Amino acid sequence: MTKLDPNYQPGEDCLKNRVILVTGAGDGIGKSLSLTAAKHGATVLLLGRTTAKLEQIYDEICALGAPEPAILAFDLSGAQEDDYNTLAASIEAEYGRLDGLVHNASLLGRRSPITNYPAETWQRVMQVNVNSTFLLSKAMLPLLEIPAHSSLIFTSSSVGRTARAHWGAYGVSKFATEGLALTLADELDGISNVRCNTFNPGATRTAMRAGAYPAENPASVKSPEELMPWYLFLLSDDSIGVSGEQLSY
Ligand code: NAP
Repeated sequence: MTKLDPNYQPGEDCLKNRVILVTGAGDGIGKSLSLTAAKHGATVLLLGRTTAKLEQIYDEICALGAPEPAILAFDLSGAQEDDYNTLAASIEAEYGRLDGLVHNASLLGRRSPITNYPAETWQRVMQVNVNSTFLLSKAMLPLLEIPAHSSLIFTSSSVGRTARAHWGAYGVSKFATEGLALTLADELDGISNVRCNTFNPGATRTAMRAGAYPAENPASVKSPEELMPWYLFLLSDDSIGVSGEQLSY
């Protein structure tokens, strides 16, 4: 499959009793996803680097009467492998498993030709967009193996599927994201309950999009909320059997 059925209707409780970790939960698509998953019954683990933003979402979720989320204050740019393992151990102690992991946090970095691209920005973008997804996946896979079915989602981009000039480390990081997810999906195929897919949300009204296209009228692109049926499909049992796919909005 490459497209979601336009008539897809997620069940109201499709994520009931699920424990789902969302990175970059404080803003943009991650924020919308965290609120939506909680509304559909999930206990959402809100991972991000700006605690104040996570606290606001925590309060919004609690005000909805949804399952109490957790705040994971975690900076993906500086964390080392031990930090990921410590995080996994604390999730296991508190929740005993993980039903979903959405690699959503990313940095845009600089829009410039490769020849002018600052090396420091390159390293930072690759650290957050690629290295952290490797380390977090590796640390969390044992927890994702515990439930009967679980879902691992890597957030991609059009520039990670077709190369485009001046997208620098961001574009390259998304090619690497596709490669990591497909390698992992192939390794898990037939021996694991974990399904693993990439999803390209396409142009979406967020701070990252505004940074990439400062002259664009934000009202001309879709809201994060419009993506939510896709995420609910991929996180819920409705997508059991879907793995190794490069999906797009
Ligand atoms: P966004 O609004 O910039 O949000 C990104 C989130 O990632 C923010 O909450 C940010 O934290 C967090 N983050 C960044 N660096 C981090 C770090 N070192 N540690 C922890 N968290 C960190 O971006 P978005 O547009 O929602 O993008 C979400 C995903 O969709 C990304 O993977 C992006 O590549 C992809 N995507 C977006 C579009 C689009 O048009 N928006 C198109 C294609 C793909 P702070 O809140 O603290 O800054």
